[in-house]
Amino acid sequence: MNDPDSSGRFGSYGGRYVPETLMSPLAELEEVFTHLRTDSGFSSELQKVLRDYAGRPTPLYLAERWSDRLGGIRVYLKREDLCHTGAHKINNTVGQALVARHMGKNRIIAETGAGQHGVATAAVAARFGLRCTVYMGSEDMKRQALNVYRMRLMGAEVVTVDAGSRTLKDAINEAMRDWVTNVRDTHYILGSVLGPHPYPLMVRYFQSVIGREARQQVLEQEGRLPDLLVACIGGGSNAIGLFHAFLNDESVRMVGVEAGGRGTARGQHAARFTGGRRGVLQGTYTWILQDDSGNIDPTHSVSAGLDYAAVGPEHAYLRELGRCEYSTASDKEALNAFHELSECEGILPALESSHATAYLRRQAAGLTPGACVIVNLSGRGDKDVDSVRGIEGGS
Ligand SMILES: *Cc1c(COP(=O)(O)O)cnc(C)c1O
Repeated sequence: MNDPDSSGRFGSYGGRYVPETLMSPLAELEEVFTHLRTDSGFSSELQKVLRDYAGRPTPLYLAERWSDRLGGIRVYLKREDLCHTGAHKINNTVGQALVARHMGKNRIIAETGAGQHGVATAAVAARFGLRCTVYMGSEDMKRQALNVYRMRLMGAEVVTVDAGSRTLKDAINEAMRDWVTNVRDTHYILGSVLGPHPYPLMVRYFQSVIGREARQQVLEQEGRLPDLLVACIGGGSNAIGLFHAFLNDESVRMVGVEAGGRGTARGQHAARFTGGRRGVLQGTYTWILQDDSGNIDPTHSVSAGLDYAAVGPEHAYLRELGRCEYSTASDKEALNAFHELSECEGILPALESSHATAYLRRQAAGLTPGACVIVNLSGRGDKDVDSVRGIEGGS
């Protein structure tokens, strides 16, 4: 199952770098999760909510016109954009809400940057009748006002974080602080394969439904395994969600695409593997963007969901093993890819997902004709229409 070792390490990455006060809540969470993942009652409960509430299974869609445009490869899109609330995030929040209920916790907290994880958390909190507080940097609240309003409509309290850079990193610090104080009745739903053990493992577990479905669907529709999988990488949850079921299929190549932003200068991108180094951020040892004295670098991406200084520890390990490859796409390439998919297929992709499609556009000419590729369409682009219009000045 490619699980981390008992201390939560994938090779040398991962672990649990937290203050003493968080050690026992994390150990308790690990124990409950370890039990639930082998409990058949929990699995059927989870499956039912994913089907009736989140909208699973999502289609594996052969994008014929876009495939032609790319020169005759066969490209399938895994349609996570069709999930409830518009992205893969709901797979994880549904799962963790069920975990919280099993632990007897009636309050949920979360952090959010772009607001997508906050919205998916607010939705499941409403669905299960749990109180919900979402921490969000004041800069992000300004940029994502509509998502703040969505969360409030669903009954969540959105708390402004004015510390530090007033973005995601600072919101995570506040959520951790809340959790330490209120752990008796509160579960913290972390939004990606990041943070201290068991979060990278637990979030992978809930997202790996993407790849399990896709593997079965491609075998049915194409009669064989794909040659290549492509997904964008913020923390890396949609990517590991797609990759995990294929890790033991040696013939399947996998590429994760980070945000190349405006270029390679410090502060202009979120490409941890090309511009970063190893270190600890927010509970985990992985590749991060930091300067010589260990200060975290500012990051930039046109897509808020990829704009974070650390990458999930399992990706660091898979890269070291040579099992998965990692690349980047720039803001400009992602915007061009956003338009191309919209025009060829009538599907507006999230700007995050457009980094994955941008990579494939750039590389398609080098693939064997007839090659079969699955791109994870992690989310829908409706949320990004205003920012694309703002950048390009359309009407
Ligand atoms: C949050 C988000 C991402 C990035 O998060 P991962 O954990 O890397 O998947 C990618 N795409 C969309 C649509 C998102 O909302």
